[in-house]
Amino acid sequence: MKFNTKAIHGGQEHDPAYGAVMPPIYQTSTYAQSTPGGHKGFEYSRTHNPTRKALENAFASIENGNYGLAFGSGLAAIDAVIKLLSPGDEVISTNDLYGGTYRLFKHVFEKFGIKFHFVGMESVSNVEAKINENTKLIWTETPTNPMLNIIDIKALATVAKKHNILLAVDNTFATPYLQQPLDLGADIVMHSATKYLGGHSDVVMGALMLRDKEIAEKLYFIQNASGAVCGPQDSFLVLRGIKTLHVRMQRHCENGKAVAEFLASHPKIEKVYWPGFETHPNHNIAQTQMKDFGGMLSFTTKGNDYDKSIKIVENLKIFTLAESLGGVESLSGHPASMTHASIPKEEREKTGVVDSLIRLSVGIEDEADLINDLKQALELI
Ligand SMILES: *Cc1c(COP(=O)(O)O)cnc(C)c1O
Repeated sequence: MKFNTKAIHGGQEHDPAYGAVMPPIYQTSTYAQSTPGGHKGFEYSRTHNPTRKALENAFASIENGNYGLAFGSGLAAIDAVIKLLSPGDEVISTNDLYGGTYRLFKHVFEKFGIKFHFVGMESVSNVEAKINENTKLIWTETPTNPMLNIIDIKALATVAKKHNILLAVDNTFATPYLQQPLDLGADIVMHSATKYLGGHSDVVMGALMLRDKEIAEKLYFIQNASGAVCGPQDSFLVLRGIKTLHVRMQRHCENGKAVAEFLASHPKIEKVYWPGFETHPNHNIAQTQMKDFGGMLSFTTKGNDYDKSIKIVENLKIFTLAESLGGVESLSGHPASMTHASIPKEEREKTGVVDSLIRLSVGIEDEADLINDLKQALELI
Protein backbone atom coordinates (compact mmCIF):
# COMPACT_ATOMS: atom_id res chain seq x y z
CA MET A 1 0.00 0.00 0.00
CA LYS A 2 1.30 3.47 -0.92
CA PHE A 3 1.37 6.29 1.64
CA ASN A 4 -1.75 8.15 0.43
CA THR A 5 -3.80 4.96 0.77
CA LYS A 6 -2.21 4.08 4.11
CA ALA A 7 -3.13 7.50 5.52
CA ILE A 8 -6.79 6.60 4.97
CA HIS A 9 -6.93 2.82 5.41
CA GLY A 10 -3.67 1.78 7.11
CA GLY A 11 -4.22 -0.57 10.04
CA GLN A 12 -7.99 0.04 9.90
CA GLU A 13 -10.84 -2.45 10.03
CA HIS A 14 -14.53 -1.66 9.98
CA ASP A 15 -15.96 -1.75 13.47
CA PRO A 16 -16.88 -5.36 14.34
CA ALA A 17 -20.11 -4.38 16.16
CA TYR A 18 -22.06 -2.62 13.37
CA GLY A 19 -19.58 -2.17 10.53
CA ALA A 20 -19.13 1.55 11.25
CA VAL A 21 -16.63 2.89 8.69
CA MET A 22 -15.05 5.20 11.26
CA PRO A 23 -14.04 3.58 14.55
CA PRO A 24 -16.65 4.70 17.12
CA ILE A 25 -15.58 6.78 20.10
CA TYR A 26 -15.60 4.12 22.82
CA GLN A 27 -16.10 6.56 25.68
CA THR A 28 -15.73 3.97 28.42
CA SER A 29 -13.25 3.27 31.18
CA THR A 30 -14.13 -0.41 31.60
CA TYR A 31 -15.60 -3.46 29.84
CA ALA A 32 -18.07 -6.14 31.03
CA GLN A 33 -16.63 -9.59 31.80
CA SER A 34 -18.77 -12.74 31.70
CA THR A 35 -16.54 -14.45 34.25
CA PRO A 36 -13.28 -13.19 35.82
CA GLY A 37 -10.94 -12.79 32.84
CA GLY A 38 -13.77 -13.48 30.38
CA HIS A 39 -13.52 -10.35 28.18
CA LYS A 40 -13.18 -9.46 24.51
CA GLY A 41 -9.59 -8.21 24.67
CA PHE A 42 -10.39 -5.02 26.57
CA GLU A 43 -10.36 -4.77 30.38
CA TYR A 44 -9.61 -1.19 31.38
CA SER A 45 -9.02 1.88 29.22
CA ARG A 46 -5.60 2.83 30.60
CA THR A 47 -4.40 -0.49 29.20
CA HIS A 48 -6.52 -0.71 26.02
CA ASN A 49 -9.33 1.17 24.36
CA PRO A 50 -10.75 0.22 20.93
CA THR A 51 -10.65 3.80 19.56
CA ARG A 52 -7.07 4.26 20.77
CA LYS A 53 -6.17 0.84 19.34
CA ALA A 54 -7.49 1.87 15.91
CA LEU A 55 -5.35 5.02 16.10
CA GLU A 56 -2.28 3.09 17.25
CA ASN A 57 -2.67 0.75 14.27
CA ALA A 58 -2.82 3.80 11.98
CA PHE A 59 0.30 5.23 13.65
CA ALA A 60 2.22 2.00 12.98
CA SER A 61 1.04 1.89 9.38
CA ILE A 62 1.93 5.45 8.31
CA GLU A 63 5.51 5.14 9.63
CA ASN A 64 5.99 1.66 8.11
CA GLY A 65 6.26 0.26 11.64
CA ASN A 66 4.86 -2.85 13.28
CA TYR A 67 3.76 -1.17 16.50
CA GLY A 68 2.18 2.18 17.39
CA LEU A 69 1.54 3.77 20.77
CA ALA A 70 -0.56 6.84 21.59
CA PHE A 71 0.10 9.11 24.58
CA GLY A 72 -1.54 12.13 26.18
CA SER A 73 1.10 14.48 24.66
CA GLY A 74 4.29 14.44 22.63
CA LEU A 75 6.28 14.90 25.81
CA ALA A 76 4.52 11.93 27.45
CA ALA A 77 5.69 9.82 24.48
CA ILE A 78 9.30 11.03 24.95
CA ASP A 79 8.99 10.39 28.69
CA ALA A 80 8.09 6.75 27.94
CA VAL A 81 11.16 6.31 25.72
CA ILE A 82 13.53 7.66 28.39
CA LYS A 83 11.96 5.25 30.92
CA LEU A 84 13.51 2.41 28.88
CA LEU A 85 16.82 3.57 30.41
CA SER A 86 18.41 3.07 33.85
CA PRO A 87 20.54 5.27 36.13
CA GLY A 88 24.07 5.49 34.72
CA ASP A 89 22.87 5.33 31.11
CA GLU A 90 23.81 8.14 28.73
CA VAL A 91 21.89 9.81 25.91
CA ILE A 92 23.32 11.84 23.05
CA SER A 93 20.83 14.43 21.86
CA THR A 94 20.77 17.23 19.28
CA ASN A 95 21.56 20.68 20.69
CA ASP A 96 19.00 22.36 18.43
CA LEU A 97 16.09 20.69 20.17
CA TYR A 98 12.43 21.30 20.98
CA GLY A 99 12.58 23.27 24.24
CA GLY A 100 10.20 20.98 26.12
CA THR A 101 12.29 17.94 25.25
CA TYR A 102 15.38 19.70 26.61
CA ARG A 103 13.48 20.57 29.81
CA LEU A 104 12.29 16.97 30.28
CA PHE A 105 15.81 15.55 29.75
CA LYS A 106 17.65 18.12 31.82
CA HIS A 107 15.22 18.98 34.62
CA VAL A 108 13.28 15.74 35.10
CA PHE A 109 15.46 12.80 34.10
CA GLU A 110 18.96 14.04 34.89
CA LYS A 111 18.24 13.87 38.62
CA PHE A 112 17.44 10.14 38.24
CA GLY A 113 21.02 9.56 37.12
CA ILE A 114 20.63 9.60 33.34
CA LYS A 115 23.25 11.71 31.61
CA PHE A 116 22.44 13.82 28.51
CA HIS A 117 24.98 15.19 26.02
CA PHE A 118 23.78 17.91 23.63
CA VAL A 119 25.75 18.08 20.39
CA GLY A 120 25.42 19.55 16.89
CA MET A 121 24.37 16.55 14.82
CA GLU A 122 24.95 18.07 11.37
CA SER A 123 28.31 16.35 11.77
CA VAL A 124 28.10 12.68 12.81
CA SER A 125 31.64 12.84 14.20
CA ASN A 126 30.29 15.06 17.02
CA VAL A 127 28.03 12.17 17.99
CA GLU A 128 30.76 9.54 17.74
CA ALA A 129 33.00 11.64 20.00
CA LYS A 130 30.51 11.30 22.88
CA ILE A 131 29.86 7.55 22.60
CA ASN A 132 31.05 5.36 25.46
CA GLU A 133 29.97 2.02 26.95
CA ASN A 134 27.10 3.74 28.84
CA THR A 135 25.55 5.31 25.73
CA LYS A 136 22.14 3.70 25.21
CA LEU A 137 20.19 6.19 23.12
CA ILE A 138 20.71 8.77 20.39
CA TRP A 139 17.85 11.29 20.27
CA THR A 140 17.47 13.46 17.20
CA GLU A 141 15.06 15.87 15.56
CA THR A 142 15.11 16.88 11.88
CA PRO A 143 14.29 19.44 10.55
CA THR A 144 15.15 21.26 13.77
CA ASN A 145 13.16 23.98 15.47
CA PRO A 146 13.35 26.91 14.71
CA MET A 147 16.53 26.90 12.57
CA LEU A 148 15.40 24.19 10.10
CA ASN A 149 18.74 22.38 10.22
CA ILE A 150 18.72 18.97 8.56
CA ILE A 151 20.36 15.93 10.16
CA ASP A 152 21.36 12.84 8.17
CA ILE A 153 19.24 10.05 9.71
CA LYS A 154 20.89 7.26 7.69
CA ALA A 155 24.38 8.31 8.78
CA LEU A 156 23.27 8.45 12.43
CA ALA A 157 21.64 5.02 12.12
CA THR A 158 24.91 3.55 10.82
CA VAL A 159 26.77 4.88 13.87
CA ALA A 160 24.01 3.75 16.25
CA LYS A 161 23.99 0.20 14.81
CA LYS A 162 27.78 -0.07 14.95
CA HIS A 163 27.73 0.68 18.69
CA ASN A 164 24.46 -1.13 19.46
CA ILE A 165 22.71 2.07 20.54
CA LEU A 166 19.02 2.88 19.99
CA LEU A 167 18.23 5.71 17.59
CA ALA A 168 15.04 7.72 18.17
CA VAL A 169 13.84 10.41 15.76
CA ASP A 170 11.34 13.16 16.58
CA ASN A 171 9.59 13.31 13.20
CA THR A 172 7.07 16.01 14.15
CA PHE A 173 8.22 18.67 11.64
CA ALA A 174 8.59 16.35 8.66
CA THR A 175 5.67 13.94 9.20
CA PRO A 176 5.75 10.46 7.65
CA TYR A 177 4.49 11.98 4.40
CA LEU A 178 7.88 13.64 3.91
CA GLN A 179 10.26 11.36 5.80
CA GLN A 180 10.10 7.83 7.19
CA PRO A 181 12.93 7.37 9.72
CA LEU A 182 12.32 3.64 10.33
CA ASP A 183 13.11 3.02 6.64
CA LEU A 184 16.33 5.01 7.12
CA GLY A 185 17.44 2.78 10.03
CA ALA A 186 15.96 4.48 13.12
CA ASP A 187 14.58 2.25 15.90
CA ILE A 188 11.88 4.55 17.29
CA VAL A 189 9.92 7.39 15.70
CA MET A 190 8.21 9.95 17.91
CA HIS A 191 5.59 12.56 17.02
CA SER A 192 3.87 15.40 18.73
CA ALA A 193 0.57 14.38 17.09
CA THR A 194 -0.66 17.75 18.35
CA LYS A 195 0.95 19.19 15.22
CA TYR A 196 0.62 17.83 11.66
CA LEU A 197 -0.86 14.39 12.43
CA GLY A 198 -3.85 15.93 14.23
CA GLY A 199 -3.52 18.89 11.89
CA HIS A 200 -6.38 21.05 13.16
CA SER A 201 -5.02 22.60 16.38
CA ASP A 202 -7.74 20.93 18.44
CA VAL A 203 -5.91 18.18 20.34
CA VAL A 204 -2.71 17.51 22.32
CA MET A 205 -1.25 14.04 21.74
CA GLY A 206 1.95 12.03 21.31
CA ALA A 207 2.90 8.99 19.26
CA LEU A 208 5.60 6.33 19.09
CA MET A 209 6.12 3.98 16.17
CA LEU A 210 8.60 1.11 15.90
CA ARG A 211 9.37 -2.32 14.42
CA ASP A 212 11.11 -4.27 17.18
CA LYS A 213 8.79 -6.51 19.22
CA GLU A 214 10.92 -6.57 22.36
CA ILE A 215 11.22 -2.77 22.61
CA ALA A 216 7.52 -2.41 21.75
CA GLU A 217 6.55 -4.72 24.62
CA LYS A 218 8.66 -2.68 27.03
CA LEU A 219 7.02 0.53 25.81
CA TYR A 220 3.48 -0.91 26.09
CA PHE A 221 4.39 -1.93 29.65
CA ILE A 222 5.57 1.63 30.44
CA GLN A 223 2.49 3.12 28.71
CA ASN A 224 0.21 1.08 30.97
CA ALA A 225 2.36 1.32 34.11
CA SER A 226 2.90 5.11 33.94
CA GLY A 227 -0.53 5.76 32.42
CA ALA A 228 0.06 8.85 30.25
CA VAL A 229 -2.54 7.71 27.71
CA CYS A 230 -4.90 9.78 25.55
CA GLY A 231 -8.68 9.55 25.66
CA PRO A 232 -11.01 8.03 23.02
CA GLN A 233 -12.34 11.41 21.81
CA ASP A 234 -8.81 12.68 21.13
CA SER A 235 -7.92 9.36 19.49
CA PHE A 236 -10.86 9.79 17.12
CA LEU A 237 -9.81 13.35 16.23
CA VAL A 238 -6.24 12.38 15.37
CA LEU A 239 -7.41 9.33 13.43
CA ARG A 240 -9.60 11.67 11.38
CA GLY A 241 -6.70 14.11 10.99
CA ILE A 242 -4.38 11.43 9.60
CA LYS A 243 -6.87 10.64 6.82
CA THR A 244 -6.06 14.00 5.15
CA LEU A 245 -2.37 14.20 6.14
CA HIS A 246 -1.03 13.65 2.61
CA VAL A 247 -3.36 16.22 1.04
CA ARG A 248 -2.64 18.80 3.74
CA MET A 249 1.12 18.22 3.53
CA GLN A 250 1.11 18.68 -0.21
CA ARG A 251 -0.46 22.14 0.24
CA HIS A 252 1.75 22.98 3.26
CA CYS A 253 4.78 22.28 1.02
CA GLU A 254 3.44 24.35 -1.91
CA ASN A 255 2.57 27.32 0.30
CA GLY A 256 5.81 26.96 2.30
CA LYS A 257 7.83 27.19 -0.92
CA ALA A 258 5.87 30.22 -2.17
CA VAL A 259 6.28 32.05 1.16
CA ALA A 260 10.00 31.15 1.41
CA GLU A 261 10.64 32.46 -2.11
CA PHE A 262 8.62 35.63 -1.52
CA LEU A 263 10.53 36.42 1.69
CA ALA A 264 13.92 35.63 0.14
CA SER A 265 13.26 38.21 -2.58
CA HIS A 266 11.98 40.94 -0.21
CA PRO A 267 14.37 43.88 0.34
CA LYS A 268 13.67 44.08 4.10
CA ILE A 269 14.53 40.44 4.72
CA GLU A 270 18.04 39.38 5.75
CA LYS A 271 17.86 35.58 5.65
CA VAL A 272 15.28 32.83 5.17
CA TYR A 273 15.82 29.42 6.75
CA TRP A 274 14.08 26.79 4.61
CA PRO A 275 15.67 23.46 3.55
CA GLY A 276 14.37 23.78 -0.02
CA PHE A 277 16.90 26.45 -0.95
CA GLU A 278 20.00 25.15 -2.73
CA THR A 279 22.01 27.48 -0.49
CA HIS A 280 20.76 25.71 2.67
CA PRO A 281 23.84 23.98 4.19
CA ASN A 282 22.14 20.54 4.27
CA HIS A 283 19.94 20.91 1.20
CA ASN A 284 21.37 17.74 -0.34
CA ILE A 285 20.50 15.61 2.69
CA ALA A 286 17.02 17.13 2.78
CA GLN A 287 16.65 16.22 -0.88
CA THR A 288 17.60 12.59 -0.31
CA GLN A 289 15.78 11.86 2.94
CA MET A 290 12.67 14.02 2.44
CA LYS A 291 10.05 13.93 -0.28
CA ASP A 292 9.58 17.72 -0.17
CA PHE A 293 10.58 20.55 2.17
CA GLY A 294 7.57 21.09 4.41
CA GLY A 295 5.64 24.10 5.63
CA MET A 296 7.95 25.36 8.38
CA LEU A 297 10.40 28.22 7.88
CA SER A 298 12.11 31.01 9.80
CA PHE A 299 13.47 34.39 8.73
CA THR A 300 15.33 37.44 10.01
CA THR A 301 14.94 41.07 8.97
CA LYS A 302 17.70 43.47 7.95
CA GLY A 303 19.21 45.22 10.96
CA ASN A 304 18.12 42.40 13.33
CA ASP A 305 15.75 44.67 15.24
CA TYR A 306 13.67 43.16 18.07
CA ASP A 307 10.96 45.85 17.97
CA LYS A 308 10.52 45.58 14.20
CA SER A 309 9.96 41.81 14.44
CA ILE A 310 7.42 42.29 17.22
CA LYS A 311 5.66 44.82 14.98
CA ILE A 312 5.53 42.30 12.12
CA VAL A 313 4.01 39.50 14.19
CA GLU A 314 1.54 41.92 15.83
CA ASN A 315 0.33 43.17 12.47
CA LEU A 316 -0.04 39.91 10.56
CA LYS A 317 -3.74 39.28 10.05
CA ILE A 318 -3.99 35.77 8.58
CA PHE A 319 -0.91 34.39 10.35
CA THR A 320 -1.99 34.13 14.00
CA LEU A 321 0.68 34.82 16.61
CA ALA A 322 0.62 31.62 18.68
CA GLU A 323 2.63 28.69 20.03
CA SER A 324 2.40 25.36 18.18
CA LEU A 325 2.49 24.50 14.48
CA GLY A 326 1.26 22.07 11.88
CA GLY A 327 -2.41 23.03 11.79
CA VAL A 328 -4.40 24.01 8.70
CA GLU A 329 -4.17 27.68 9.76
CA SER A 330 -0.97 29.73 9.40
CA LEU A 331 0.78 30.69 12.61
CA SER A 332 3.67 33.01 13.40
CA GLY A 333 5.99 32.90 16.38
CA HIS A 334 8.83 34.97 17.79
CA PRO A 335 11.24 32.40 19.31
CA ALA A 336 13.41 34.92 21.23
CA SER A 337 10.43 36.10 23.28
CA MET A 338 8.26 32.96 23.14
CA THR A 339 9.57 29.38 22.78
CA HIS A 340 13.23 30.22 23.46
CA ALA A 341 12.80 33.05 26.00
CA SER A 342 14.18 30.92 28.85
CA ILE A 343 17.51 30.43 27.04
CA PRO A 344 20.08 33.20 27.77
CA LYS A 345 20.55 35.61 24.83
CA GLU A 346 24.19 34.62 24.18
CA GLU A 347 23.25 30.92 24.21
CA ARG A 348 20.29 31.22 21.85
CA GLU A 349 22.19 33.51 19.48
CA LYS A 350 24.90 30.84 19.09
CA THR A 351 22.33 28.58 17.38
CA GLY A 352 20.89 31.46 15.32
CA VAL A 353 17.88 32.43 17.45
CA VAL A 354 18.52 36.17 17.17
CA ASP A 355 16.15 38.99 18.15
CA SER A 356 14.63 39.44 14.70
CA LEU A 357 13.99 35.74 14.01
CA ILE A 358 10.37 34.94 13.17
CA ARG A 359 9.12 31.39 12.71
CA LEU A 360 6.20 30.60 10.42
CA SER A 361 4.03 27.53 10.29
CA VAL A 362 2.60 28.02 6.82
CA GLY A 363 -0.97 26.73 6.66
CA ILE A 364 -3.12 25.63 3.76
CA GLU A 365 -4.97 28.89 3.06
CA ASP A 366 -4.75 30.64 -0.32
CA GLU A 367 -1.12 31.30 -1.27
CA ALA A 368 -1.74 34.89 -2.51
CA ASP A 369 -3.57 35.83 0.71
CA LEU A 370 -0.63 34.59 2.80
CA ILE A 371 1.90 36.52 0.73
CA ASN A 372 -0.22 39.70 0.79
CA ASP A 373 -0.50 39.40 4.55
CA LEU A 374 3.29 39.27 4.92
CA LYS A 375 3.66 42.09 2.39
CA GLN A 376 1.38 44.48 4.34
CA ALA A 377 3.08 43.67 7.67
CA LEU A 378 6.55 44.25 6.18
CA GLU A 379 5.41 47.61 4.77
CA LEU A 380 4.86 48.81 8.36
CA ILE A 381 8.53 48.47 9.38
C1 LIG B 1 5.36 20.28 20.13
C2 LIG B 1 6.55 19.45 19.99
C3 LIG B 1 6.89 18.47 20.96
C4 LIG B 1 6.08 18.28 22.23
O1 LIG B 1 4.82 17.77 21.97
P1 LIG B 1 3.53 18.10 22.87
O2 LIG B 1 2.44 17.41 22.13
O3 LIG B 1 3.39 19.59 22.93
O4 LIG B 1 3.79 17.51 24.22
C5 LIG B 1 8.01 17.69 20.74
N1 LIG B 1 8.78 17.86 19.63
C6 LIG B 1 8.50 18.79 18.70
C7 LIG B 1 9.38 18.91 17.51
C8 LIG B 1 7.38 19.61 18.84
O5 LIG B 1 7.11 20.53 17.91
